[in-house]
Amino acid sequence: MSANDDLKALIRTIPNFPRPGIQFRDITTLLLDPSGMARTVERMASATQGPIDLIAGIEARGFLFAAALAVPLNAGVLLIRKDGKLPGATIAEDYALEYGQDRIAIHEDALVPGARVMLVDDLIATGGTARAAIRLIRKAGGVVNQAQFLVDLPDLGGADKLRSDGVTVDALVA
Ligand code: IMP
Repeated sequence: MSANDDLKALIRTIPNFPRPGIQFRDITTLLLDPSGMARTVERMASATQGPIDLIAGIEARGFLFAAALAVPLNAGVLLIRKDGKLPGATIAEDYALEYGQDRIAIHEDALVPGARVMLVDDLIATGGTARAAIRLIRKAGGVVNQAQFLVDLPDLGGADKLRSDGVTVDALVA
């Protein structure tokens, strides 16, 4: 039994979602467990290389971990949103999907220059989403040196790409 097998056991795999051939890791089962989220957040908090000013969460499941981690780490929450959702003036970053393109955004005044930001999301696969978030935070003047995920799919290589961007990557479950 390795360190986070208890969390791994709370995550299920749904075949052929959202498309045939994809093995989707479904974390909603971990969220339903009374202590699943607490154990996840405790371990992410312990792995954090502080001090951190802001926890950046990627829409939508990343928001859950960002908010929960911000409390024990005494940090604010930066929402990395799909473009078109934020009410104020934004800066945005495009990234490639398997088919097509997507865009994420933050408010242009969300970061003071030099703000220390840690990125979190539920899962890293190809790393396209997280890398776009890192580019966006850096473009806005933030410093991001660490990213944490509940799940890493190492065969897809995303964590290694983040490391080549100068970011320390931690994941609880592979
Ligand atoms: P990437 O950009 O290829 O690294 O994909 C990561 C993003 O897609 C994250 O925001 C995840 O929430 C989502 N995602 C991709 N695959 C899965 C999965 O199997 N389960 C849950 N989320 C996934």
